[in-house]
Amino acid sequence: MILNDTQPACDLLVVSPHPDDAEIGVGGLLAALCAQGRRVWALELTRGELGTNAEPQERWEESVAAAKVLGLTGRVQLQLPDGFIDANDQGQVAAVVAVIRRLRPTWLVTAPEPLRHPDHQATPGLVARAVFLSRLATWQPVSPPLRLHGADALPEAADRWETVTVAHVTPEDGRPSLLFDISAHWERKLEALACYRSQLRRDDGRRATVINDPAFLQRIEDRARRWGRQSGTAYAEALTTQQVPVLADLPTGPWR
Ligand SMILES: [Zn+2]
Repeated sequence: MILNDTQPACDLLVVSPHPDDAEIGVGGLLAALCAQGRRVWALELTRGELGTNAEPQERWEESVAAAKVLGLTGRVQLQLPDGFIDANDQGQVAAVVAVIRRLRPTWLVTAPEPLRHPDHQATPGLVARAVFLSRLATWQPVSPPLRLHGADALPEAADRWETVTVAHVTPEDGRPSLLFDISAHWERKLEALACYRSQLRRDDGRRATVINDPAFLQRIEDRARRWGRQSGTAYAEALTTQQVPVLADLPTGPWR
């Protein structure tokens, strides 16, 4: 079989269980990369149908609005079962493999927080398995049902794909491998988060949740300021990866 490895179709793919996770975790990074003309996609595994507030359609519309604010190249939403993300479910792995082979990312970031949620615990494992199996041309799962923003169709699928780097959003008490200065994009992140009105605002008769408590947004800001202090900037976001950079010279940027 001739392997169709082709070229990357996106520079960064963020894979999260629910609409709003990507912006909460790395909205500033997404805005920064989009502003530099990078091809950035977000993939949500579920429609968020178990959410305390709002139906999936409203949540999809909010995520599309946020994608426009950030300037994402595109956004994909799968229909895996909210609350039951499972790395051992072959159908779920197949769905993620199919999307990875189409978007062909160089970097892939998962958003595991908050760790109290089982979908967030399971997503990095599901992604790790899908990243591995995406390399194997002998398994060719069919494309799953999905919703799409930013393009009429996903790019053509490669027979196999090797994602170069996989990272996840650093948990509050975790140790970052990389810190991204998002100071110039902090306001854009807030603007994107404001699109998720049904999730992050307690007005309009919404039921009270952890994330529509005003203290939640304050926590996001506190964390960005803390990573910012560590990086010598106003605001930063952090990623953790098991991988190490391969260099041929001393890096020019600062290491903190
Ligand atoms: Zn979530």
